[in-house]
Amino acid sequence: MGENSKKIEIPYAVTVRDLAKLLQTNSIQVIKVLMANGVMANINQMIDFDTAAIVANEIGFEAVPESEAVVEDEKETGEVPLWRQIIDREDSKALIQRPPVVTILGHVDHGKTSLLDAIRHTDVQAGEAGGITQHIGAYQIESKGKTITFLDTPGHAAFSAMRARGAQGADIVILVVAANDGVMPQTKEAISHAKAARVPIIVALNKIDRSDANPELVKKQLAEQGLMADDWGGSTMVVPVSAKQKQGIDDLMEAILMTAEETKIMANPKGNVFGTVIEASVDVKKGVMATLLVQNGTLKMGDVVLAGNSYGKIRAMFDFHGKKIQKAGPSTPAQIMGLTDVPTAGDIFQVYATEKEARAVISAAKADAALHQTTKKATLEELFAKFKAGETKELCLVIKTDVNGSLEPIVNSLNDLSKEGEIKVNILHAEAGNINENDVTLAAASHGIVVGFNVQAEPLARKKAENEGVSIRIYDIIYRMLEDIEKALKGMLAPEFKEVFTGRAEVLAIFTISKLGAIAGSRVREGEIRRNNKVHVIRKGTTVFTGEISSLKHEKDDVKEVRNGMDCCIGVKGFEAFEVGDILETFILERFGS
Ligand code: GDP
Repeated sequence: MGENSKKIEIPYAVTVRDLAKLLQTNSIQVIKVLMANGVMANINQMIDFDTAAIVANEIGFEAVPESEAVVEDEKETGEVPLWRQIIDREDSKALIQRPPVVTILGHVDHGKTSLLDAIRHTDVQAGEAGGITQHIGAYQIESKGKTITFLDTPGHAAFSAMRARGAQGADIVILVVAANDGVMPQTKEAISHAKAARVPIIVALNKIDRSDANPELVKKQLAEQGLMADDWGGSTMVVPVSAKQKQGIDDLMEAILMTAEETKIMANPKGNVFGTVIEASVDVKKGVMATLLVQNGTLKMGDVVLAGNSYGKIRAMFDFHGKKIQKAGPSTPAQIMGLTDVPTAGDIFQVYATEKEARAVISAAKADAALHQTTKKATLEELFAKFKAGETKELCLVIKTDVNGSLEPIVNSLNDLSKEGEIKVNILHAEAGNINENDVTLAAASHGIVVGFNVQAEPLARKKAENEGVSIRIYDIIYRMLEDIEKALKGMLAPEFKEVFTGRAEVLAIFTISKLGAIAGSRVREGEIRRNNKVHVIRKGTTVFTGEISSLKHEKDDVKEVRNGMDCCIGVKGFEAFEVGDILETFILERFGS
């Protein structure tokens, strides 16, 4: 890019046609440049800012993100979710307040399902409509003449799965905390998820009817998690309720409406139709049934919908009472019939003019995905490249440590680092314990990484991290961890090696062989064990030795590799103290970013 190239403002998402106009050229020229860069796009296709910037650059412009469209909050992080990009392209004068979409999170057995039921039944209208309330993944109620939409699949797994796909299913989180049980591990996780999504939290202090309820203690615990109750001088609304006795439900609805009023939850009912897939399944008689939550525009019978890799013309549409409807406006959940395939919950849907166009978009997206298959990984190096390009101003981390005692010093030191630099460290979640699937989900949803101190990554977490392209870094010395993160923040991180898992075997018996010493008679449980791999010896979840494989035998023969399900004998250089039940986990070292 030359010094004199002309600056041009480009939105976060733009069609090829509009980009051509902005660059004062024709669409064919833009498509050619895209093709030369490995992106197949048609004239109506939406491309993101990064891609558009490359095209602009090649045509002699310097692309800068369209500034006014970005709300202050997101300008800081540089992460603009897709739904926001679409709303930002709407004419601001056409935007009106839409009903808030609320999701319920909280620890198991604290009363999420009971609360959803209680809310549903306090709604007189729902009762009058016959009460045939079927589950479609969301429902609406009226309170004081205003509508509220509830997602009725509680739990943060669903919530984060949506965010990982760029969707923001909910506008407000109700955190259910049982007044007799207080803040529990999943309560903390839920808080982290809601905070990472920057969604306001209202606390429903449930089971207030119980004699062992202790609201003040729970408020103290909440304050420790950064949620200071309003009657304690903080800004978190804490509403005492009893889902069982249907007490406090009106107060909770009022709190929701107040929060909705404060938060700008807008949509253009006449604008581009888009929203999120809430759930989908196949019905033997009706075919694919999908519940869509409309977030902008108005969805109508006969519209051609594209969601994930699925498309189709709406043949029938139902509300949450199972009643046929002709259209669904912003914040309305609608169950539709007519899609070709089952989309995934969290997929964003849009409306296209014809089925042909929808098909073309899907095949272009598939071609694009095939070309860019490996670009998703959020390693520290790649994150830094983004910082440099000004795309991200925040390093999102999930921290796991072996003991509670090491949490505070780590979190404090990271926050101190954050104060020095331009780039902020945002700790999404910090807890003692091994790295689990939830940690990876949370990191994935915020394009963050998981950092462990003296812990293991559970096999399912590792698999998920691989699939979702989330980087897991494990350290055993605090200053090394801080040094790395500091370097990343300052952009000086040298390429490093990461462990790439290859296989796992369980030790079933120990043999002693004169030349080799003790070797581990093992069965391969996952992947494959290769002779030239490195190995961790893990006992009850803790690594007791790390070294190299010195010998690998299958039925007395020396072999190069042993596959999943097979038995073998493994020798480890410098280690003989095997015990039955030990896990041998093999890995290779790969350069980060490679
Ligand atoms: P979830 O796992 O969070 O969805 O919790 P549930 O809604 O399934 O409730 C767990 C248990 O707590 C059930 O036995 C409920 O009957 C009970 N429960 C839920 N809300 C209340 C309440 O307000 N008061 C009392 N005493 N029990 C409740």
